[in-house]
Amino acid sequence: MDDQDTTPPQDARPAAEPLTRAEPRSRRVAMMNQKGGVGKTTTTVNLAAALAERGRQVLIVDLDPQAHATMHLGIDPAGGQGATVYDMLADPDGFDPAGAIHQVDDRLGVVAAETDLAAAEVELSQDSHRLTRLERALARLDGWFDAVLLDCPPSLGLLTLNALTAAREVLIPMQAHFLALQGVSKLLETVKLVNSTSNPALRVTGIVLCAHDSQTTHAQEVVADLEGFFEEHRRSPEPWANARVLTPPIRRNIKLAECPSFGQTIFQYAPTAAGADDYRGLAESFEAHDPNAQGTPS
Ligand code: ADP
Ligand code: MG
Repeated sequence: MDDQDTTPPQDARPAAEPLTRAEPRSRRVAMMNQKGGVGKTTTTVNLAAALAERGRQVLIVDLDPQAHATMHLGIDPAGGQGATVYDMLADPDGFDPAGAIHQVDDRLGVVAAETDLAAAEVELSQDSHRLTRLERALARLDGWFDAVLLDCPPSLGLLTLNALTAAREVLIPMQAHFLALQGVSKLLETVKLVNSTSNPALRVTGIVLCAHDSQTTHAQEVVADLEGFFEEHRRSPEPWANARVLTPPIRRNIKLAECPSFGQTIFQYAPTAAGADDYRGLAESFEAHDPNAQGTPS
């Protein structure tokens, strides 16, 4: 869409300088699957860290009241750590962005979740602008990050709908089981609904296969079905016309399951593990495939 140089200055840090309204330029991605335990948070945290390792400025927004991404990054959600996603949603035009972003390192920031976020869902349900609150809040951060990853809760409630309204693309972490296919069609229906109502620009980037075992026939069949489905829709007007099953799949790797309890990304905890390699590869594919970019290689 925008062909200008979109690389922010390396020292562009929200805390260091006043925010300006730059042209929208970051990739803003809803990490979505209404099923829990499929790898959303693991992928959000480690894809973000892999992009940061590639030199990008990345922000994670933890939209799950369970605050798993927040904890995975070593932040205590009950620790009085300053502004959180709750404040962002409660006052999208007035919250202090610099106070809300915790820098995990030079290039990776996070807006933390807190358990009050569950209350936000109830409070917001009365508001006529309830779907656009996150979008309004994130508009104030545009220009500061190359990528903003929104870690969604395992439901299709107001928090996920805010993410889909604010996002420009959807990445679907999933595990290759038969029932997962049904889940994906339900999820695509939701994307289509949001696409036809509050966010016509929303596109599906594709699927990230998590805890993947490429040896089993079953997993191979599920992947072939998914690829076939996306191929069939290549020239359709659907928001998933450009979607694909991203490579590489993320192999099942115990290090990925261990690192959250140390409050570390895989790159801090086990940088030479298979899980780190897979997320590095995924970051490369993610950058090569932007469903909103013109001339995306097919
Ligand atoms: P979600 O956010 O969708 O609920 P998580 O990312 O929290 O899912 O993953 C669910 C569980 O599976 C977590 O315990 C996580 O550590 C583990 N896990 C995720 N991906 C992998 C993987 N590739 N290998 C091993 N364990 C994984
Ligand atoms: Mg999660």
